[in-house]
Amino acid sequence: MELKLNKIATSENEANNVEKMIIIGAGPAGLSAALYAARAELSPVVITGMSLGGQASLTHTIENYPGFPDGVGGAELGELFQKQAERFGARFEFDNVTEVNFSESPYIVKTYGNEYKAETIVISTGASPNYLGVPGEKELTGKGVSYCGTCDGWFFKDKDIVVVGGGDSALEEGIFLTRFAKSVTIIHRRDQLRAGKILQTRAFNNPKIKFIWDSVVENINGTSAVESVLIKNVNTGVESTFPTDGVFVFIGHTPSTDLFKGQLAMDGNGYLQVDSKMQTAIPGVYAAGEVMDASFKQVVTSAGWGAAAAIQATKYLESKE
Ligand code: NAP
Repeated sequence: MELKLNKIATSENEANNVEKMIIIGAGPAGLSAALYAARAELSPVVITGMSLGGQASLTHTIENYPGFPDGVGGAELGELFQKQAERFGARFEFDNVTEVNFSESPYIVKTYGNEYKAETIVISTGASPNYLGVPGEKELTGKGVSYCGTCDGWFFKDKDIVVVGGGDSALEEGIFLTRFAKSVTIIHRRDQLRAGKILQTRAFNNPKIKFIWDSVVENINGTSAVESVLIKNVNTGVESTFPTDGVFVFIGHTPSTDLFKGQLAMDGNGYLQVDSKMQTAIPGVYAAGEVMDASFKQVVTSAGWGAAAAIQATKYLESKE
């Protein structure tokens, strides 16, 4: 009896254009989820947002994704992921999600151009770069302030630039920017880097890179372009003006979870909370990648979580049938 009822429900879903799976976001987690769901014949719809490949696509070369001993371009890797998922029937919609409603199944996902209903959802909206929040930052963004070396490095040929931050992103991007810039000064708020040893060694050995330790940027100065930064030494309190043509900010990320406020549980930093099977508190709604990962933030871990979420969603759908 139960089986018959479920079969009726399944055909009703098909008649009502209810998708088996909607994937929100197209970084490594979303694209891997798309591949696994497509291979399970769920014909997933991936709503990509404004870009494909996530933050990884902004990285010039990814050297730690297994299978690419010589490294792979970040954008190229995203395209390969997409191609592989499409080969098995994943569908891509280049649109932004504006609203979701997870109060009852089928779940509703609204975009600028459409309204979708789906039995399962994989959230892989990733994270966006943090801002310094100092005077001059907003005003001079695009006029010398940047959050992406790969995108903007070329504009700083033979210029002097500063990089703010002491993590892997700051060092990786700082090293990349030496291809263009005359000098790269990394300003870090402590006297020890957070970045991994391999990047530290490369940065210390790069003759174009200098460090200013124990210091924070308090102001970004300039009218039509960046001219200098006001720096404060956090130990002595002494302030000084450091001339520069550009400011690249790499001080961590904030998960992109605004859409889900009030519907899904988050930790104090806004990361979605999932169980060991990638599921949120709502049956059939999963999260994968940087939107739920405050610890690892690697392409390979995000891709793994995306695959896990899709496998779990497939099992969930099977259990309903
Ligand atoms: P992160 O590891 O969180 O590092 C952020 C850096 O910015 C830290 O050095 C932090 O200082 C500093 N910072 C934070 N807020 C600041 C503020 N308001 N003012 C000044 N400095 C501030 O972020 P990330 O470098 O973007 O890396 C994120 C994750 O991606 C990490 O897990 C990283 O390993 C990973 N990642 C890996 C690779 C790679 O494997 N090649 C490349 C890029 C990123 P403190 O150190 O004092 O906290």
